[in-house]
Amino acid sequence: MPELPEVETTRRGIQPHIENTIISEVVVRNASLRWPIPSSLNAKLKNKKILSVTRRAKYLLLETEVGTLIIHLGMSGSLRILDTNMRAEKHDHFEIQFNNGHCLRLRDPRRFGAVLWTKDDPLQHKLLIHLGPEPLEKSFTAELLFAKSRKRKTSIKQFIMDAKIVVGVGNIYASESLFLAGVHPKRLAGNITKQQTKDLAAAIKTILKAAIKQGGTTLKDFSSSDGKPGYFQQKLNVYDRKNEPCKKCTKPIKQITLGQRSTFYCTQCQK
Ligand SMILES: [Zn+2]
Repeated sequence: MPELPEVETTRRGIQPHIENTIISEVVVRNASLRWPIPSSLNAKLKNKKILSVTRRAKYLLLETEVGTLIIHLGMSGSLRILDTNMRAEKHDHFEIQFNNGHCLRLRDPRRFGAVLWTKDDPLQHKLLIHLGPEPLEKSFTAELLFAKSRKRKTSIKQFIMDAKIVVGVGNIYASESLFLAGVHPKRLAGNITKQQTKDLAAAIKTILKAAIKQGGTTLKDFSSSDGKPGYFQQKLNVYDRKNEPCKKCTKPIKQITLGQRSTFYCTQCQK
């Protein structure tokens, strides 16, 4: 599933190709994604320019003169820049064609993705307005994590995966961040110390930055046509390493289920 680093890598991959480019046609081949793709998009967007390509949590925001397209990749979505005359495949449900002969094509086999429209401030859209801070921005701090966690009886792992607390900490990144910070995933959020919130906020930033950096270096070309989306394998310390030796202390990594999600940690290094 595309997580925040993949979405950010996608944003960086497509931005130089579509920013300041004029839309010639919007093509909806299959409108039934997670929510129906609005049928009015072509009428609205024909001959309009993409002004900016930004991201909020896992939503890509394509701003135009008349409003903003909000794109979510769901479970299996990917975006690529292709020649418009290249034949669309079975799962290529949506595309924006540009007057330079290229298009931005959305492929989404499982159709949990979304293409939405707003003429207003996209950050006020009902899907975005309640989101917590971006993990890589200054607004996400140890102080905030400490304040929000007081009296919370949920596990720290579920707490940092809550998008109202901070966005973009998916299941893999939660296990990895807790390992790096030396915090036990089952510890109650309300019980973590000030020092642990410092270590954890720093670890979340470090892990996500490293993933984005790796995305930039190992990524498939966004304008290539080999059919593979630009997602990448992370270097993982604990996730999916059940019974393998801890990279710090060599004790076997333990796997448990927490909030119905697989969770990996070291019984010795994480308190
Ligand atoms: Zn260990």
